Amino acid sequence: MTAAQPHTAKLIDGKAFALGLRGRVAESVARLKLDHDLTPGLAVVLVGEDPASAVYVRSKHKATVETGMASFEHKLPETTSQEELLSLIHQLNTDPAVHGILVQLPLPKQIDSHAVINAIDPDKDVDGFHVVNVGRLAAGIDGAMVPCTPLGSLMLLKDVHGSLAGMNAVVIGRSNIVGKPMAHLLLQESCTVTIAHSRTRDLPAVVRGADIVVAAVGRPEMVKGDWLKPGATVIDVGINRIAPATPEGKARLVGDVDFAEAVQVAGAITPVPGGVGPMTIACLLRNTVVAACASNGLPAPANLAL
Ligand code: NAD
Repeated sequence: MTAAQPHTAKLIDGKAFALGLRGRVAESVARLKLDHDLTPGLAVVLVGEDPASAVYVRSKHKATVETGMASFEHKLPETTSQEELLSLIHQLNTDPAVHGILVQLPLPKQIDSHAVINAIDPDKDVDGFHVVNVGRLAAGIDGAMVPCTPLGSLMLLKDVHGSLAGMNAVVIGRSNIVGKPMAHLLLQESCTVTIAHSRTRDLPAVVRGADIVVAAVGRPEMVKGDWLKPGATVIDVGINRIAPATPEGKARLVGDVDFAEAVQVAGAITPVPGGVGPMTIACLLRNTVVAACASNGLPAPANLAL
């Protein structure tokens, strides 16, 4: 008799899915140019010199240009006042070539991020952080701009399962950027949703009831294999940098889920890197095309639907 093969979860390839989505965005952009003489445009605003933010802004610019869209970069000094930034936002709100506005966070401490985000025209708020879009998503009103990371996570889940109706979903983390919008999206898909957080009692027991686990915590490898219901689908949003053990070593990225353990129990799981990460920019591009269509009275392209 041969020993049974150890179980291995299906890997959810976010990198491949994101590449496909970016291709569909580029097709839609080409169609809009041809049929409607419309070039979707994304404006990205960076204030200050934070190196990580500069890297994000550069990759957003590159990805935008690659799809054939117009990219407008605005780099402002660290000393920029709130009034100066608000004046740029107003200018972008009224610029017909700009369909999406993204202000890279975090902002320097003299600037109130909420005031800036809520000054963006909600229909150009491609990050989905404006209170109007938060409200539209919570109320299930059509036309909400949905935050990119949860939107990308939902796309991966729907790719695995088709319908999510009736499934038990546990979202770990309640941030405005990931956890809360993720929970609303899953509720809209008719999941039974639990939002767990730092004060949740007996988190492993809560997670054990889940058919879908979305981990958005920021704690390296916190979710263990024996927390999972066998066959569960695991979406690991966490991106944690682990310093090298030796000075010559390389830093590595891990998620919020202990991948080596979880892969032996889960039915399907996103790796880190290469899972949710690449979906964020792809969804930003998708949201910009959808915003450009809406502002010109056109329906969202069918190939970019959820
Ligand atoms: P956050 O710090 O704003 O929120 C973390 C949440 O985790 C909080 O709601 C908190 O209640 C909860 N939490 C903290 N400790 C906990 C514990 N011990 N048990 C249960 N819950 C706990 O973080 P965020 O912005 O939501 O990001 C979460 C993670 O996702 C981070 O690793 C971040 O780097 C990553 N992230 C990835 C992307 C992407 O593009 N893939 C985008 C955004 C965030």
